[in-house]
Amino acid sequence: MSKRVYIAYSGGTIGMDNSPAGYTPRPGFLAAQTQVMPELRAPGMPEYTLGEYAPLLDSSNITPQDWLRMAHDIAKHYNAYDGFIVLHGTDTMAYTASALAFLLSGLNKPVIVTGSQIPLSEVRNDARVNLITSLQIAGGLAIPEVCICFGSRLLRGCRAAKINADGFQAFDSPNFPPLGACGVDIQIDWKLVRPAPTETLAVKDLSDPHVAALRIFPGMSAGVLANILQPPLQGLVLETYGSGNGPDRDPALRAALRDAVDRGVVIVNVTQCLTGAVDMAAYATGSGLQQAGVIGGYDLTAEAALAKLYYLLGLGLTPEVVKMQMQQDLRGELTR
Ligand code: ASP
Repeated sequence: MSKRVYIAYSGGTIGMDNSPAGYTPRPGFLAAQTQVMPELRAPGMPEYTLGEYAPLLDSSNITPQDWLRMAHDIAKHYNAYDGFIVLHGTDTMAYTASALAFLLSGLNKPVIVTGSQIPLSEVRNDARVNLITSLQIAGGLAIPEVCICFGSRLLRGCRAAKINADGFQAFDSPNFPPLGACGVDIQIDWKLVRPAPTETLAVKDLSDPHVAALRIFPGMSAGVLANILQPPLQGLVLETYGSGNGPDRDPALRAALRDAVDRGVVIVNVTQCLTGAVDMAAYATGSGLQQAGVIGGYDLTAEAALAKLYYLLGLGLTPEVVKMQMQQDLRGELTR
């Protein structure tokens, strides 16, 4: 019996049409094109169902509510399908893939997030191969993880980042090796794939917590930081320099952090560097942040840190428990 894959089309370049304002998603446009692709019905290909969201979104418009909607949609179709594809814009794909990894607790089937840099409707595109490879993986390989399949790589979703605005290898997971290489053959590095969970799939409802991210920059004033940390903010991803360093010569800056931490705001330190981890003990400029109550996010990507913070705070956990779990490996998102 052939395998079954559920495809959720959320929007993004892959199914976009040309408009006077540039590429834009159009209802029914992607479905019409897939109808006339015989390769999608070739022997050995899984059967698929295409679910299209309304409205279709350029992923710059995706919000955490959309992450939840996708997770619930996958849960709704979970038992009837062998694998899942989320067609998504590349701009915020790494955030969504990270969020789905946390939201889909107990996931035991592949969820492959993909998209393209050029729409399927263009003669020369990367959409066709990304779609076909994703279908073959989602329908043929028992990977119990949320992954990004893009270009010639299969990456762990909560480790991925968009690293190229116009190349076909648009994603990388700099702190974790690819789970697979999609060349002549699709080769999975099974020793990297997470073991199947013992629990069953559960998508919990979340409150809509207030989280934010701030990339520190030379000359940042305490006022900028204090502003972003104001209530109702509950969590902040602080993107710092190098191994987790930030300015330590401005007492007002330190006071803004301390004040927020004392109010229960969880502040997580991740590095602006693409590769490597936060170690706040390495420099005085890092340990100053630690003394102010900022916690280290190890080698979390900024995308995964934001999604994880949203997830944990959304569960209604106390700041102390959120801090503890932010520093634990829940879905293969960080190395300790
Ligand atoms: N702006 C588009 C989006 O993220 C880019 C893409 O899909 O590649 O939806």
